[in-house]
Amino acid sequence: MKMDDRTCLITGSGRGIGRGIAEHLGQEGANVVVNYRSSESSALEATEAIEASGGRAIAAQADVTDRDDVDAMRERIHDEFGPLDVLVNNAGITKDTRFTEMTRDEWDQVMNVNLGGTFNCTQAFYDDIRNADEGRLINISSIVGKQGNFGQANYATAKSGLFGFTRTMALELANGGSTANCVAPGFTRTDMLETVPERVQEKIVAEIPLGRFAEIEDIAATVRFLASEESSYITGEVLDVNGGIDL
Ligand code: NAP
Repeated sequence: MKMDDRTCLITGSGRGIGRGIAEHLGQEGANVVVNYRSSESSALEATEAIEASGGRAIAAQADVTDRDDVDAMRERIHDEFGPLDVLVNNAGITKDTRFTEMTRDEWDQVMNVNLGGTFNCTQAFYDDIRNADEGRLINISSIVGKQGNFGQANYATAKSGLFGFTRTMALELANGGSTANCVAPGFTRTDMLETVPERVQEKIVAEIPLGRFAEIEDIAATVRFLASEESSYITGEVLDVNGGIDL
């Protein structure tokens, strides 16, 4: 078991990509915190799957936009497992509409979860990650942060903001031996992709050289590598996992 005794928090991991990451880390023997905002039953299913595969897991409710929630989750994690070794900022939302019709509230909601949640969790667990033996900060961005996307001015802005945040954290964490990296998935089969109209999905697949959307496992396996000791000398990087869509 490569991740024995490493404690990992994955935000928004009751379902989707986050759940896949949680289960992959659990299979390596990690102590996994499955954070959820509203998907309690699937978060509990994820903890059962992790326990069955040899890891230890708890489900922790917290809205990442609420610093009090995040601080309460930290107390619980410290009581249960001690300090964190790996933080994966995965929780994310979209509120898509063309820019001229986008309300300030739609802009703010996307910033609050995708960037504000990352701020709250990283600050709450910064000392843990910095003081860990090879701590890991992993931020889940998107191909949309690199390319932009029609109807996603809010989401593209938030996701490209994670690139600058990751590089800065890489610099600030480096002299303690911890790393910060970003994963930029391409279009991945989850509930989030289901919100994209079918005709748009067909157009996107036609532009992917590998000819298919990403599966959750494609992203989770990349995060598992970045969380492991095998990635010790990689920091401040963006790993694209997108089937070659930007070639
Ligand atoms: P998803 O299926 O829509 O799931 C979103 C997850 O985020 C859920 O677990 C949700 O928790 C959680 N979440 C949302 N707001 C939250 C909050 N305020 N506090 C805590 N958790 C919150 O999305 P996904 O496709 O798995 O995406 C995961 C990440 O990958 C996101 O950052 C997304 O931007 C990124 N990404 C996705 C794709 C894609 O094509 N799917 C591509 C590139 C990047 P609850 O269900 O408990 O509310």
